[in-house]
Amino acid sequence: MLIPKVAAKKLRIGWFSFTCCEDSTMIWIELMNDNFFKWKGLLDIRHAKVLKRKNRLDNLDVAFVEGAITTEPDAKMLRSIREHSKRVVAIGSCAINGMPAAQRNVFNDELKKEIEFLIRRFKQTDRVRTVKEVVQVDDEIPGCPMVEASFLQVLDRYLKEFGVTNA
Ligand code: SF4
Repeated sequence: MLIPKVAAKKLRIGWFSFTCCEDSTMIWIELMNDNFFKWKGLLDIRHAKVLKRKNRLDNLDVAFVEGAITTEPDAKMLRSIREHSKRVVAIGSCAINGMPAAQRNVFNDELKKEIEFLIRRFKQTDRVRTVKEVVQVDDEIPGCPMVEASFLQVLDRYLKEFGVTNA
C-alpha cells in the first residue's frame, strides 16, 4: 500500500455549501477519490460538513464556497467564513453570478406574488445574492458544476502560495 508523505505544513481548508444543488461538492468528493493519497498529506480539512460531524472554523488558509446566499443567517455565516479565512474562493455559477439558484430574482410580478408565502415561511431575503455581493472573493472557479481542471489549478496555486509541499 502507498504510504502518503505528510507535508511539514498542510493547507488548512474549508468547504462550504449554501443554497444550491451541491453538485460541485460531489465533483470535489469524486476528485478526492482520485487524489486521496496525494491530498491526505497536503490538506488539513478543518471544515466540511459533507465529510465530518465535528468542524472548526478557525484560521483557514482557503475557504471554498458553493451556492447562493438566500437568508440573513447564511450571509452572517459567510461573513464569519471570510473573517476566519485568508482566501475565499467562489465555487460554481450559483456562487459567482447567482444562477441558476437565483432564478426567482428575475421572476415577473405574478410569479413573485405566488412564491411570496414561501419567502416568508423560510425567512428568505427579498433578493438572492451572490457570494461576492456579501464578501470579498479572491478567486472564482466557474462552471455548473465547477470545472475540475480549474479547481485543481487553483488548489495547486494555493499549495505553492502557502508553501505546502510533500516533495
Ligand atoms: S452552479 Fe450548477 S452545479 Fe453548482 S450548485 Fe449551482 S446549479 Fe448546482
